[in-house]
Amino acid sequence: MNSSVASNRDNPLRDSAQYVKGVGPARFELLRRLGIETIGDLLFNFPRAYEDLTDCRRIADLTADVVQTVAGEVVEIEGRTTRTGKQVLSVVLSDGSGVVEGVWFNQPFMARRFRYGMRVAFSGKPRRQNGYWQIANPRVQLLDSDYEDDPRGVLPVYSLTEGLHADQMRRIQRFAVETYVQFVPEILPEELRRRHGFLDAPTAIRTMHLPESMAAVEQARRRLVYEEFLILQVGLALRRRDVRDIRKAPRFPITRTIDERIRRLFPFQLTRDQNRAIVQICRDMASDKPMQRLLQADVGAGKTAVAVYALLLTVAHGYQAALMAPTEVLARQHWRTLSHYLAHSRVRRLLLTGGLKPRERKAALGEIRMGQVDLVVGTQALIQEDVEFAKLGLVVIDEQHRFGVAQRERFRRLGEDPHYLVMTATPIPRTVALTVFGDLDVSVIKEMPPGRLPVVTRLVPEEKRAKLWEYLVKQVGKGRQAYIVCPLVEGTEGQDAKAAEQTYEELRTGPLQGLRLGLLHGRMDDQAKDAVMNRFRAGEVQVLVTTTVVEVGVDVPNATLMVIEQADRFGLSQLHQLRGRISRGTVAGECYLFAHGASEEARARLKLFVRTRDGFALAEADAQQRGLGEFFGTRQHGLGELRLGNIVRDADLLQMAREDAFALVSADPGLAQPQHQALRRAVLERYGQTLELAEIG
Ligand code: ADP
Ligand code: MG
Repeated sequence: MNSSVASNRDNPLRDSAQYVKGVGPARFELLRRLGIETIGDLLFNFPRAYEDLTDCRRIADLTADVVQTVAGEVVEIEGRTTRTGKQVLSVVLSDGSGVVEGVWFNQPFMARRFRYGMRVAFSGKPRRQNGYWQIANPRVQLLDSDYEDDPRGVLPVYSLTEGLHADQMRRIQRFAVETYVQFVPEILPEELRRRHGFLDAPTAIRTMHLPESMAAVEQARRRLVYEEFLILQVGLALRRRDVRDIRKAPRFPITRTIDERIRRLFPFQLTRDQNRAIVQICRDMASDKPMQRLLQADVGAGKTAVAVYALLLTVAHGYQAALMAPTEVLARQHWRTLSHYLAHSRVRRLLLTGGLKPRERKAALGEIRMGQVDLVVGTQALIQEDVEFAKLGLVVIDEQHRFGVAQRERFRRLGEDPHYLVMTATPIPRTVALTVFGDLDVSVIKEMPPGRLPVVTRLVPEEKRAKLWEYLVKQVGKGRQAYIVCPLVEGTEGQDAKAAEQTYEELRTGPLQGLRLGLLHGRMDDQAKDAVMNRFRAGEVQVLVTTTVVEVGVDVPNATLMVIEQADRFGLSQLHQLRGRISRGTVAGECYLFAHGASEEARARLKLFVRTRDGFALAEADAQQRGLGEFFGTRQHGLGELRLGNIVRDADLLQMAREDAFALVSADPGLAQPQHQALRRAVLERYGQTLELAEIG
């Protein structure tokens, strides 16, 4: 033990992991590489997997024809071909009491999994064959080679780093758990724990590390996942209360005159769903509680029109409004849309993007600060420190999944908050809405504006590629326009751009020779992007070869054809967004997918995409198959990674935790009651900063 490191008598969990038996300075360094500093970190360093050898028996004790598990060392690996031409792989295990042979037919690749001397478990039904036991097609578990214990029961498998062996790590974890787990504080209020029949905290943590069965692990895991969700949901509930009960926003009541003046600007009748969203928004904005609303609608369903309504309501009351988009291309498109609607109005407006020259930017910021503009459209450039509004009443954020709670905080100004409207075309599964967007109200537009035709989607076999290009040439000859979407290349943006450039060259000089092609990718500067988009919009460019820059919001009604290369590399929601680009005109869109070399699983996913038009269903499927990943991960939103919980798989626990959290916060808004102290500390520690919960701190 290092005597220069003071020990923390009150809370040994905060002590350095060096104090644990079996950890010296050298091992401590290895643990730190795994992100483990304190004893508490060790206790919460849960196994990444388990080896279940609960019903492992000695080979000598096997009985015929019932499923059993045996473990032993590989003593023979042999492949042979029978007279009838079958390939047989035989792997023999010995555990000292006897031998057992695992056999596989026509799966020679299985041989690669085994090495001599390796420890392996087989599960399956043994049969007596020529005097010894044989299991056909056994289930295989590869075990650690170095056991200190009898390989029975459930063994935890921890993440390791070079120089730290499985058995050492197990021993360290075991010492830590046995000595310190009693100091883990109980965060769950007794009442909730009882009601749900959850284990207490020390027992749950102990079980995670030293389980007796997989069923016990699951029971412990559920309790810990619930706790994790409860902490998050209490944080969100507190924030929501804070925003609603403490913060103030200006009131913008709607009047008949204002309503009529705004509606006159639209060249169409708003749909029923659009009107319903507007009613909800007007109700929010008429109150002095800042609106926190998520407007969710499939691509092309008409969110922008609804946002324009809210923006103009704000301006009508003499306040400024801002519209923020995730990319330059989109900011410019919104700018164009607004300019179109506002062609004959006196609303003073300004486009603020990253591309402005310093002088222009300075002038723009001056106008915003002096209140000389009413409406500002921009990108992230809007949330920079030096942007100051004279009288900001509303912020509309497009494609929220790229902006977190923290960014929203940017716009807070002395004593007054603006209203917020967050728009997204990414269908958000309900489970996600409950977590990352847990502090927002939701409006949904389901109905499409009249006259939209559904997109026809096809998965095209590689051998039909040439035919497809012929078809495309013919259709473009008839005046239609097309997108060709190149896949995202893992890694850098530069690689993407290169792939797109290459495709562009190949098509231009090959199958699409004679058509006017354009190229759009993220590495081009804003001017070049804008130029090619303008030419595409004007019909000068007939075929736009692009990376996913085009994904959100780009609106060119005459472009009704789309080809997506290596479609298996995209998420379903992302594909759906892309497809949304070609459902804007009066001609039915056609979307063709290539997925050469894709796995069976990926093909199945794409087939689901081909037959499903419902963006929500696709988003759920995405979340289940790929995890929450890019768009919805809690990390993306500054909420940190969940340690154990998976908001899709553990949706039931999430729902439960949410209800409990909101009830708890409404009964005890300051979390002042003694039974809520541990929970309060945990919430503040984890989310106090990101959720700006200072006011209850
Ligand atoms: P989103 O932002 O949801 O993708 P937009 O607001 O950009 O959708 O609308 C998509 C297209 O539909 C635009 O060209 C818009 O002019 C048109 N549109 C929106 N609302 C209506 C409506 N109620 N009736 C007819 N067309 C509409
Ligand atoms: Mg839009």
